[in-house]
Amino acid sequence: MIKSLYARMIFAFLGSVLVSLVLSFMLNSSLYVGQLRTYMQENLIASGKTIIQSYKQSYPNNLDALLQGLTALPNYSIRLFDQEGKPLHETGAPSQDKFNVRADQLRVVLNGGVYRETEKHGFEHMTIGLPFQIGGKPYALFIASKFGGFAKMLSGFFRNLLLIVLFFGSLFIVVSARFIVRPLQHLNRATLKMSKGDFSIRLNTKRKDEIGQLTRSFNHMAYELGMLEKIRRQFVSDVSHEIQSPLTSIKGFTQALKHKKMDEASRLRLLDIIEEESNRLSRLSEDLLQLSSLEYEHLALNIRPYRLDEQIRNVVIASEPQWSAKHLEIELALAEIQIQADEDKLSQLWTNLLSNGIKFTADHGKIQVKAVEADGGVEITITDNGQGISEEEIGNIFKPFYKVDKSRDRAVGGNGIGLSIVKRVVDLHHGDIQVTSQVGQWTTFRVYLPKIAMK
Ligand code: ADP
Repeated sequence: MIKSLYARMIFAFLGSVLVSLVLSFMLNSSLYVGQLRTYMQENLIASGKTIIQSYKQSYPNNLDALLQGLTALPNYSIRLFDQEGKPLHETGAPSQDKFNVRADQLRVVLNGGVYRETEKHGFEHMTIGLPFQIGGKPYALFIASKFGGFAKMLSGFFRNLLLIVLFFGSLFIVVSARFIVRPLQHLNRATLKMSKGDFSIRLNTKRKDEIGQLTRSFNHMAYELGMLEKIRRQFVSDVSHEIQSPLTSIKGFTQALKHKKMDEASRLRLLDIIEEESNRLSRLSEDLLQLSSLEYEHLALNIRPYRLDEQIRNVVIASEPQWSAKHLEIELALAEIQIQADEDKLSQLWTNLLSNGIKFTADHGKIQVKAVEADGGVEITITDNGQGISEEEIGNIFKPFYKVDKSRDRAVGGNGIGLSIVKRVVDLHHGDIQVTSQVGQWTTFRVYLPKIAMK
């Protein structure tokens, strides 16, 4: 129980209120009790002087009336002594005990001194002795005050104040701590749910404080993790699907080879298909490996200076068998450009873009490759006059396994990973890639790269 934040807040509050009340009480007492004591003592002396004055005026005929009046004073006891130290008169409230006046105290006052005695720490009991003379003879007046009732009332007042503060403070903190802690409990429950795979969970909040921010960050995290989980599932299902179709045909054709009688030419044709399907699987695994390594290898970019135009020219030459088989015309407009980048990764990028251009352009079509320096970087455009990509599809083609024509024939090849690799390489170089296209007419991939790639 004590381990919960709620209990801790309540205990912390009560603790701090108690400590501060006690401290303030002590501080206040030390500051004001002394002052109060002096004030009351002065008051008592002033009262004593008035009594002496009245006594002198009443002496000797009206003393009875005076003493009767003094007896009625509720908080004072009075004793009067003559020069021999003999008590002459005594008054006191009925509830009060008579106070004792010691011989030494009496001597001080009869010798003309003022006597003051108070409790060291309080002001409940106070005695003063005042000297006076009548007809040249010394007298001593002692007044004792009892402010016990007043002091009790005062301390009761402070004790009650403390209890009332504690009571209302506790009530308030019990309610407000719940209000503070409740969203954290909700967050905790939601986190537990999320750890079990429920990413749909969202928490409502209107609060603008840190807890509100935490709740909003939690919702954002749940959304992002949900998206990642969706992508992961889609990815696994795409990979399985992509593996499944070549495996199915390999299995089908090997069974046919085993069980059917066929001539040598048909047998070779089936074996060719099996080989081609195996190559497809192997390419898929290579591409997947590359994609995954690009995800994690951003710190391992091997950046060095080289001639970009020469690299592109070499890629075009290397893919000559593909484009000449389709009788494509290739037009190059490459400015002499020196850049600093990861040569191998960019080579893969141009290969993928060019092979797409070749793949999706009909025989006797045309591909233009242009490279110029622009905006402190380089801009490379690869345009083909092939089948094009519709506006809606352009947003999807960089996703892994995405193919516009899912049922396209095996001869075209491709597993839908090529452009994901392209996008990743561009991102790693802090560049940008744009696609524009007209369905049935042309497609342009425009790649922008900074001249000096940063890691
Ligand atoms: P694939 O292995 O299918 O080529 P990519 O990731 O390279 O995979 O491309 C994804 C999809 O984008 C392709 O299946 C194709 O539908 C479309 N695409 C890419 N480049 C072109 C292009 N030059 N012309 C028309 N469509 C293209």
